[in-house]
Amino acid sequence: MNNKEKGKLYVISAPSGAGKSSLISYITQSFDNVELSISATTRSPRAGEENGKHYFFMTNDEFNSLKKDKQAFIENAEVHDHQYGTPRSYIEYRVNHGINIILDIDVQGFKQIQRAGIENTSIFIVPPSMAELKSRLVKRGLDSKEVIDKRLDNAINELEHAKDFDYKILNDDFDSACKALSAIIIDGDVTSQDDNNEKILRDLLS
Ligand code: 5GP
Repeated sequence: MNNKEKGKLYVISAPSGAGKSSLISYITQSFDNVELSISATTRSPRAGEENGKHYFFMTNDEFNSLKKDKQAFIENAEVHDHQYGTPRSYIEYRVNHGINIILDIDVQGFKQIQRAGIENTSIFIVPPSMAELKSRLVKRGLDSKEVIDKRLDNAINELEHAKDFDYKILNDDFDSACKALSAIIIDGDVTSQDDNNEKILRDLLS
């Protein structure tokens, strides 16, 4: 297989509750040849989550021992008090076999990938407002109040890094956001909404 047939890497980040997982599911279910990477994490599985499907769930000791091998993860970070990492062998195997891979990772992981000079297209999902973000986190009922508060605090920090991404997609309407994401991943298009999304980002941070 030559280089031309290699898969591409897409980094997608967003604050918790911005709707990133639903958007990614739409893409992986609608198009062949685009897969979501499976990360390792020390977080406990939520109801319905399966080891090897949603994450590779492991203890802190297991994660730390993997981390000692500097090649094990292409990036790793502590997010909301738990460790997360992208397994290098998993990504390399798929990209070398022509599969396009989406990395659903936080901004710290994105920065590490940038620093390592790994070629990628990066997309930040922007929530319509902080109030909407909170309401989505409460409605999905997955996390305690303490966890939700921590995730909202972290959201501000994540939003401050949105400017470093190649594309920003506003998720105020699911269908439009799906279209914008497909245009980038499937058609390699530049979204025309970017200027408007910059303004929404500034408002969110003000
Ligand atoms: P959750 O616990 O809700 O599944 O994910 C929490 C956060 O961790 C999300 O922002 C998600 O993007 C991020 N995350 C998941 N896997 C990884 C990973 O492998 N590396 C990094 N840096 N962040 C990750």
